[in-house]
Amino acid sequence: MSNDVKSEVLSATAPPRERETRYDPQRIEQKWQQRWDADPALYKAEPAASNRKKYYVLEMLPYPSGALHMGHVRNYSIGDALARYMWMRGHNVLHPMGWDAFGLPAENAALKNNTPPREWTLHNVANMKRQMKRIGFSYDWSTEVTTCLPDYYRWNQWFFLKLYDRGLAYRRKSKVNWCPECATVLANEQVVDGCCWRHEETPVEQRDLEQWFLRITNYAEELLNDLDKLGGWPEKVRTMQRNWIGRSEGAQVDFEIADSGGEKLTVFTTRIDTIFGATSIQIAPGHPLVPKLIGEDPDLLNRLEVLRDEQRSAREAGTIGEAEKRGFFTGAYAINPFNQEKLPIWVANYILMEYGTGAVMSVPAHDERDYEFAKKYELEIRIVILPRRHGDEPEPMLPHTDMDSLLINSGGFSGLGNVEAIKKMTRFAEEHGFGKRTVSYRLRDWGISRQRYWGTPIPMLYCDKCGIVPVPENELPVLLPEKIEITQQGGSPLARVAEFVNARCPKCGGMARRETDTMDTFVDSSWYFYRYTNAKLATAAIDTTTAAYWFPIDQYIGGVEHAILHLIYSRFWTKAMRDMGVVKNDEPIERLFTQGMVIRNGAKMSKSKGNVVSPDDMVARYGADATRMYSLFAAPPDRDLDWQENGVEGVSRFLGKLYRLVTRYANFRSTAARQGASSLARDLERKLHQTLRRVSTDFEGRWHFNTSIAAIMELVNAINAADAEIASGALPQRQIAETMRVLVLMLAPFAPYLAAELWEMLGERDQLLRADWPKFHPELAREEEIELPIQVNGKNRSRITVPAGTADDEVRERALADERICALLADKQVMKVIVVPGKLVNLVVR
Ligand SMILES: [Zn+2]
Ligand SMILES: [Zn+2]
Repeated sequence: MSNDVKSEVLSATAPPRERETRYDPQRIEQKWQQRWDADPALYKAEPAASNRKKYYVLEMLPYPSGALHMGHVRNYSIGDALARYMWMRGHNVLHPMGWDAFGLPAENAALKNNTPPREWTLHNVANMKRQMKRIGFSYDWSTEVTTCLPDYYRWNQWFFLKLYDRGLAYRRKSKVNWCPECATVLANEQVVDGCCWRHEETPVEQRDLEQWFLRITNYAEELLNDLDKLGGWPEKVRTMQRNWIGRSEGAQVDFEIADSGGEKLTVFTTRIDTIFGATSIQIAPGHPLVPKLIGEDPDLLNRLEVLRDEQRSAREAGTIGEAEKRGFFTGAYAINPFNQEKLPIWVANYILMEYGTGAVMSVPAHDERDYEFAKKYELEIRIVILPRRHGDEPEPMLPHTDMDSLLINSGGFSGLGNVEAIKKMTRFAEEHGFGKRTVSYRLRDWGISRQRYWGTPIPMLYCDKCGIVPVPENELPVLLPEKIEITQQGGSPLARVAEFVNARCPKCGGMARRETDTMDTFVDSSWYFYRYTNAKLATAAIDTTTAAYWFPIDQYIGGVEHAILHLIYSRFWTKAMRDMGVVKNDEPIERLFTQGMVIRNGAKMSKSKGNVVSPDDMVARYGADATRMYSLFAAPPDRDLDWQENGVEGVSRFLGKLYRLVTRYANFRSTAARQGASSLARDLERKLHQTLRRVSTDFEGRWHFNTSIAAIMELVNAINAADAEIASGALPQRQIAETMRVLVLMLAPFAPYLAAELWEMLGERDQLLRADWPKFHPELAREEEIELPIQVNGKNRSRITVPAGTADDEVRERALADERICALLADKQVMKVIVVPGKLVNLVVR
């Protein structure tokens, strides 16, 4: 059904059916935009004391890059339709918007255009806000949050101090990307193929720098466990987070290094049951014992350098685990504490220092990676577990990793099942003091130091006498100086502003230096949605009572590219704030929806591909309603949307058709006299309630707005087809009036401008946004049913009841499933089934 409507809408050649009244979106949209702008209370949420049910709908806040792109329009059109629907369902709706306004592009733009970052950013904010208002998104601008302004970022600093107090912020040395030409730190996105983005020939170096970290790993267990509570999140996002946190249970086992005077190498393994099959030890290139093991051997030092480089480029390209596995033998041995065997120690490029202990025992027979590595370097492969049922096969296919196995060649542990062996062998290691049970996480602490200007200054001081001293709370905010020269050379720009760097030490009163690093912008977006609930509050970051009313967010909508970092940092921040007593909820987001991308000509829209469609152009040509409605109509919201301009044109033509339809019958009144209902009247009533049922259930469930809109289009076609009957009075006026009213109400979430215009035209005085969403009657939506006789070889044997218009195939199935018929057919063979639509079913049997 929707295919017909869709092809009709998408075909650009269909001529407009009528021309008596022209649909002029620009006139209509301008008129309503002015009225809405003049009414700042329109989209304002009621205070927390409201007796309506709260609904917090939120779209991810944009980076103010300069102009909205179609991906934004799609994202916000989904949220806006939902917000409007919820208002009409009588909820107290919070629907805010803000700006993720710190970040590197502002510095790049400053360098390119010689515009200060603040000016560039605020200019972009103004333009994008203008675009949002023009498209008619229902945001409450009184709660707007702009993260680069001191009234916001001072609270980042306040939170940082609280985290520091609680031991959740700390400083340590960590690697950064360094361009020797620029003499500055580069962000990951500024490293292109291992070289500086501005110096294509200059390889980026890794340097150790003191940096600030947030101890997110303290919450690893809770972040993982609480994923089970997030039933309203897409399963794929929960899986991505689960993998990112990467919990594995296992054991640490100490291997003594041979001839080292007792030095130990600790390996982490999830499969201690296979330890008798270990034939080598592998350690990460960055393992602290490497220099000791390889000494001054120039050949080994060279090979180490190569492995380090390989690991770094794989890490940058995100291909760790896919790259070819390589390594070298250090010449040293470690002793397996279970059997006293001497195992060669190798350095390998696929072992990461950040995971486990940076050292593993290699069991080639029972581990994929170890097997690949051992094959390549011809290391011994020793089988120590066998499948419980291995039939005639003398040996399992290698590597054999199945847990449902039995141990062999494992000393006193031979014969045990794997699960039991893991328990017993771990206990054995613990009892003998060379190992322990551990839980290991892939999740690392969050490095928030950025050696950049356009971010929140970290509120710390360095005093020669007192060391690291936090800025006192009453001296916040530490303001970002506005007069600054951005060169992207010679380190952080803040370090060159003497008035910024030099400060009094609050402890001893002597001179101190300010921290010149700024915070990762993910800090800004980790808690911004709490600020919306009381955005102008000057005395605290968050008003705990109001936040407790609104949280968790009922529906969050954004791109799947934020599934890991933004959402995990937000969850961490919420838990840390809860422990500070700032908020009461454990999780920030009840339901999450990730929309698909907008593509064109088979690729994501991007300037470099030249396939960008500008929202401003579309709005100027077809109006905001057609643009946003098309973005909901062209594909289910979770799928990619392939942008086609004739599709927007088609939606615009449909809106014109609808406009003329409602205009034609706008003076019909639902107070007109009742008339006897004809069968056409019943058909139309049924169609109306079926459409309403589809649109309502789509809002409540799967959000397939494309089929909702297609159903509305079908309804409009059906009414148009009854034009002559309506004109002749064969259809009751009051029914047509009611149909128009419901049609406009259903249109309101998708095309709010046109809906408002038509609502007024129908003589309605109240705000459409606060009108009640119409209820469908299942009774009226139900298809009419007919009774069909079932014949067997021409004789009536039974009867079935099916909805009118049921497809022949289904009628046939229902007939064959009929209880009486089944009994009759028990020992017979059906040769043929004849369905005479609307009349009877005849079974020819033998
Ligand atoms: Zn450079
Ligand atoms: Zn001091």
